Amino acid sequence: MKDIQSLIGKDDLIVVTGGGGFIGGHLVADLRAKGYRRIRAVDLKPFAEWDQEFPDVENLQLDLRELGPARRAAKDAAYVYNLAADMGGMGFIETHKAECMLSVLINTHMLMAAKEASVKRFFYSSSACVYAAEKQTSAAVVPLKEADSYPAMPEDGYGWEKLFSERMCRHFTEDFKLATRVARYHNVYGPLGTYDGGREKAPAAICRKVIAALMAKSPEIEIWGDGEQTRSFMYIDDCLKGIDRIMHCNDLIASPINLGSSELVSINDLVSLIEEIAGVKLARSYDPHAPQGVAGRNSDNTRIKEILNWEPDTPLRAGLAKTYAWIERQYADRKAGKRTVS
Ligand code: NAD
Repeated sequence: MKDIQSLIGKDDLIVVTGGGGFIGGHLVADLRAKGYRRIRAVDLKPFAEWDQEFPDVENLQLDLRELGPARRAAKDAAYVYNLAADMGGMGFIETHKAECMLSVLINTHMLMAAKEASVKRFFYSSSACVYAAEKQTSAAVVPLKEADSYPAMPEDGYGWEKLFSERMCRHFTEDFKLATRVARYHNVYGPLGTYDGGREKAPAAICRKVIAALMAKSPEIEIWGDGEQTRSFMYIDDCLKGIDRIMHCNDLIASPINLGSSELVSINDLVSLIEEIAGVKLARSYDPHAPQGVAGRNSDNTRIKEILNWEPDTPLRAGLAKTYAWIERQYADRKAGKRTVS
């Protein structure tokens, strides 16, 4: 692979959609830290609700489901990272299928606008939710390789939208020569990720529940499902490294690639890890009716290792310790009346 820093010029205009959100906010911070001088961050949320906002970045509040705002977002851009989507953890995507599917308008309009603006490269954030349900019926998983998304039967709502949008990227490349890169993220977590309010994912939700139990001096935790479902979780720093490598890779044209950790863990084990970090042991109750998603899912990293000679490698325990400490600080800040993420 060529020097990954060489592709994007320091004065090229880089657009990050979803820049007010979790991964988008970190991506903007990372691009700034790498010395890129012209960054535009775009999000639907009012600025006061952005996870991170930087004064030296052009920040725009736009609804990218509309073509006009998408054109404004992509105007004069050289590179576009399209991360905007209406999404959340299992509790959200199982109960907001239509809203998740409407994100198809964001990617459609951003692709059209990027093509019109002659963008050099377009990055799309897909998800492991594109994988076929029949390949995920057991907690003792066979890790999912890229080809396992077809024959298609993805997660209803959110997964169908992601699979369709991936395909649209491919056809914009084939028909219009717009260079696209597509990464399938597997559960990203870390500081600044949503930890309450309904959109949070398992690692942040469990950290929050453990902290809340400690604060309330109540020795109990509720777990969704029987806790035997398995997943892998990728720390945000690995996600950023992967986005950078995938965007810059010249061999990955319009071909989706897994971006996830291959460290498999059951939800029960995830709870035990967080209990260890917190120095507590809680009584567990299980809610069999709560949303829980597929029985098991892991990332097969053969392809990313082959192509990028790298895979996400932050140990789960290390990433969780940082995430737990951050959520704990959020609780303290909230108590002190300071601004918090959610
Ligand atoms: P996030 O919800 O924190 O960020 C998404 C941002 O998109 C939000 O700030 C939201 O306000 C914005 N947005 C929604 N609708 C918009 C619209 N119409 N116009 C402009 N902005 C809009 O989520 P995230 O975790 O940062 O996810 C970023 C991307 O990665 C998404 O595409 C998501 O589907 C994908 N992804 C995330 C994960 C994960 O574990 N976090 C896993 C797989 C895929």
